[in-house]
Amino acid sequence: MDIEKIRRDFPILDRQINGRPLIYLDNTATSQTPRQVVDEISRMYTSAKANVHRGVHTLSQEATDAQEATRRAVARYINAPAPEQVIFTRGTTEAINLVASSYGRLLENGDEIILTVMEHHSNIVPWQLLGSRKRIMLRVVPVNARGELDLNVYASLFNERTRLVAMCHVSNVLGTVNPVKSMIAEAHSRGVPVLIDGAQASPHMRIDVQDLDADFYAFSAHKMYGPTGVGVLYGKKHLLKMMPPYQGGGEMIAHVSFEGTTYAELPFKFEAGTPDFVGIAALRKALEYIDSIGIEDIERHEVALMRHTQERMLAEIPGLKIYGNAADKSPVISFNIEGEHHYDVGLLLDKLGVAVRTGHHCAQPLMKALGIEGCVRASFGVYNTMAEADAFVDALVRVSTMLR
Ligand code: PLP
Repeated sequence: MDIEKIRRDFPILDRQINGRPLIYLDNTATSQTPRQVVDEISRMYTSAKANVHRGVHTLSQEATDAQEATRRAVARYINAPAPEQVIFTRGTTEAINLVASSYGRLLENGDEIILTVMEHHSNIVPWQLLGSRKRIMLRVVPVNARGELDLNVYASLFNERTRLVAMCHVSNVLGTVNPVKSMIAEAHSRGVPVLIDGAQASPHMRIDVQDLDADFYAFSAHKMYGPTGVGVLYGKKHLLKMMPPYQGGGEMIAHVSFEGTTYAELPFKFEAGTPDFVGIAALRKALEYIDSIGIEDIERHEVALMRHTQERMLAEIPGLKIYGNAADKSPVISFNIEGEHHYDVGLLLDKLGVAVRTGHHCAQPLMKALGIEGCVRASFGVYNTMAEADAFVDALVRVSTMLR
């Protein structure tokens, strides 16, 4: 991998922050965007902007073609059986809300959903909203000291009222890569479908929804070098077909009258209103960008950065506590320094040009389980270098000395 060449594709990496070169380690929240993606957004706005699926004129057809080309590209990327199983949303959050609202309408009082304690709020709150309309019980899989799910408890949570498992592929705090394939098989052996929140997996590893046998798979473009405002919900056809529409409006209908309305076929049934077709077109460029480097090489590079950084941190920072030590861990390091507030650490790192995230990371139940209010999180992307990893640890050593 030619990192210097890759870095030249990301103009933002040339920025100085507080007089120092930016070291961007907040990739879990959002990744930076290469020129190829930005150029496509610009191309769409300057030469191909027209509303999709509504016009016979050339521009509208070009915009529609660009959107549908991305749908096919996403289907290939995640190995979906057919493009119509790819539904465009605003992001992972909306994809999960879609399933909670729509599949949720098929649930009955007393039904149960299994979640895990490491879920992002976007895979907790939609189910609670559903539970506020119906009596839905949430069952929660705990983690062990390494931050891995307790699979014995998982198996014990199923009963005849279990209707869905909704869980993350990769934790945005612990970095744990969950054994989703075997967990899906376990759920299927009891006839229960599984929704996978892939927001933190899709930027780092190959996703094959058929190999996983996932019933639903959700992810966000902005975390995988793509534009903001676009996400994907993949679903199995028989489930998507039996689910009622999520929102009403244009695009999602076959025929409307005041007496009654019939709905469009998949995927349009779930895509009411004008989509972010510019962003959707740009998502294809992000997928091509990842493919041009190779997702396996990206993963190897990022995990090597994470392992090297962790080793140095543990050796050099007194009072360091790292949360998440799973055998299979994605490139995220969440930590605290004993006696110091995570905000102070984050603010001082920013003064040294290092961008990390601090707080509860939209995972308050996990924070509670870990017995903390929040922590600092450093996370790696394809453009990060060993020199940056070392500069981050050097900065952290300085910060911890200053705070003491
Ligand atoms: N799920 C996980 C595991 C995440 O890390 C995030 C964002 O950080 C989300 C869901 C929500 O993604 P978005 O805000 O793009 O909808």
